[in-house]
Amino acid sequence: MCAPVHYGVEYVINPWMAGNVHRVMHENAVKQWDGLRNRLEELVDVELVEPAPGLPDMVFTANGGLVIEKKAVVSRFLYRERQEERKHFKKWFERAGFEVSELAVDVPFEGEGDALLDRERGLLWVGYGMRTDLDVHPALAEALDIRVVSLRLADERFYHLDTCLCPLQGGYLVYYPRAFDADSIIQIEQIVPADKRIAIGDDDATAFACNIVNVGENVILNKVSPELHERLTQAGFHVIETPLDEFMKAGGAAKCLVLQLTNHAPANGGAATSVREGLVTLEGHLLHAGLLEKAVDVAVENGGTFQVTHFDLGKQQSSLSRADMRVVAPSETRLNNIVSQLLALGAKRVAAEEKDATLEPAPVDGVAPEDFYASTIYPTEVRVGGKWLKVRNQRMDGVLVVEPGGKPAVRCSLFRNLRKGDQVVTGSEGLRTLRKLRKPAPNGEHEFSFMGGGASSERRVDLVVERIAWEMRRWREQKGKIVVVGGPVVIHTGGGEHLASLVRNGYVQALLGGNAIAVHDIEQALLGTSLGVDLVRGAPVDHGHRHHLAAINTIRRCGGIRQAVEQGVLTRGVFYECVKAGVPFALAGSIRDDGPLPDTQMNLIQAQDDYTRLVRGADMILMLGSMLHSIGVGNMTPSGVRLACIDINPAVVTKLADRGSLESVGVVTDVGLFLSLLSQRLGL
Ligand code: NAD
Repeated sequence: MCAPVHYGVEYVINPWMAGNVHRVMHENAVKQWDGLRNRLEELVDVELVEPAPGLPDMVFTANGGLVIEKKAVVSRFLYRERQEERKHFKKWFERAGFEVSELAVDVPFEGEGDALLDRERGLLWVGYGMRTDLDVHPALAEALDIRVVSLRLADERFYHLDTCLCPLQGGYLVYYPRAFDADSIIQIEQIVPADKRIAIGDDDATAFACNIVNVGENVILNKVSPELHERLTQAGFHVIETPLDEFMKAGGAAKCLVLQLTNHAPANGGAATSVREGLVTLEGHLLHAGLLEKAVDVAVENGGTFQVTHFDLGKQQSSLSRADMRVVAPSETRLNNIVSQLLALGAKRVAAEEKDATLEPAPVDGVAPEDFYASTIYPTEVRVGGKWLKVRNQRMDGVLVVEPGGKPAVRCSLFRNLRKGDQVVTGSEGLRTLRKLRKPAPNGEHEFSFMGGGASSERRVDLVVERIAWEMRRWREQKGKIVVVGGPVVIHTGGGEHLASLVRNGYVQALLGGNAIAVHDIEQALLGTSLGVDLVRGAPVDHGHRHHLAAINTIRRCGGIRQAVEQGVLTRGVFYECVKAGVPFALAGSIRDDGPLPDTQMNLIQAQDDYTRLVRGADMILMLGSMLHSIGVGNMTPSGVRLACIDINPAVVTKLADRGSLESVGVVTDVGLFLSLLSQRLGL
């Protein structure tokens, strides 16, 4: 322990300190510290380290290092404010005859604050995410020849592991689940059986009830609730409360004030850690396209950490930058997850690390191996037998299958199409994504990307419509493929006649939608209403609500839309034009469909396959007021296809148009208005 001679809150490096600067009642603190010391001295010998002026947090000796047998690993504090403490603790360890070891890595490690020995299990629980770096974990395992279990701290109030977890005698573990991320909780639950886990609630956690000094059956702490007292007593512990609120002002209590000097090395020694690392390179407009920031976020948000080992800064706007990044993650699975997301951003594995992709057989029909790589919309290559092969049928949320046979090939497959034994790409090795990591020319991007709503937007909508019209004309001239996805709102808003004329004039090569767009289009063609509303007068007509049912009934009697056209029953509208022009359409069923029309595919797997077939080879896709069908189409469309998404709801537009600014455009506007402007621009 270290006497609180110079203790006080003099800076803010954790949320507890905020608002408490210069608020410690010194006399009270001394009294509380003496109280703790006296309690401890009844049970153990207490050694003291000399307090140093200007180091108010030195009282929290748990952070000075970690001792196992005669080995002391000295800390390396994250914050400058505490860094000077290191030399004092180091000197003390040396004088006391410990073998002082330095970790092989030069990153923060805050001693027993973040590394707690579980004697029963012979392992070290080590925290990261706040103070101690994940890179320390393998180094600790190595230095102390011990198994390390990595836990990620997720609540900044619980910035050290010892504020939210404490292994106790008999294999018990007191912990505050909400301080950890989900993966860490799973780890704890896998290692500690339910009857040994003592999960505590908010009130106990914020009273530092996890911050326990455990000596045999004694648990010494600041304060516990009656329930926790009872639970600990039942588990055979003698609870000793000793008030330490003056120290809580700095974010510490009993355990923080004490460093254990008598930790024995576990009998089942042997260094072990699940921490893994990988190297990637990013090249492109890393700074002004924000790529480096995105890459770093991917690593940290997914429970890893990173180190930029090399950085070449492109000095001019047009020049490219390059960064080599070392990514460290708490497990192989999490590393793969991070690296695959970095690959989707356009990162590449460092050449020296390039390996063939790992393949595992599908265990049964329709099921991928556990660690499957999930495909993205970006063109991907897989390294097989030392060669990079381009993936066929690229789409999102599929898996990659290496085809058997002499000349290997890779295709994107859906789970349901997997056959037992198919060789599926797993992990993140031997994969690369071809993405241009360049920022598009400034005017190009902004004019053709997201168009917000609001008073001044009319002119801007006009501009974007002009661009879309220009693009559509170009595709028509080049005999390209334009696919339209639409919802019933196209008809309700009076856009039907414009869409019909796009079809008639060769601007649509495939039409996708649900039951509703066809029902309302046909209702309008047969009865002049859409959902019972007269679109010319804009008013509901008598008994109009049954009009759409009557339309469905008519088409059912004919046997389908094509038959209705052939029988002369359906003589105008979007679907009439499709039949006349031989434009294929697919209608995907849904739970809310009335009828349905004979053409609506109620077998959803078949409907997805129909959509996929029609989307294949598309050059441009117009998404018009249907969230459901547009998102479905977005997932099956590889990058590089021009998307234009028109919806009144900005959230829908953002979701759909957010696939790399160059290729997608979102327009927040009424779809009827949009179609009318578009047909004007196309001179229809
Ligand atoms: P959806 O919620 O998926 O999409 C509707 C979208 O239109 C929303 O994103 C909304 O913001 C947008 N929108 C609303 N008004 C707009 C406007 N004026 N301009 C531009 N965008 C506008 O719903 P959906 O695609 O209409 O229907 C979902 C499913 O339900 C489909 O499969 C459809 O066929 C089915 N459905 C069936 C019937 C029927 O059979 N009678 C009726 C309605 C829907």
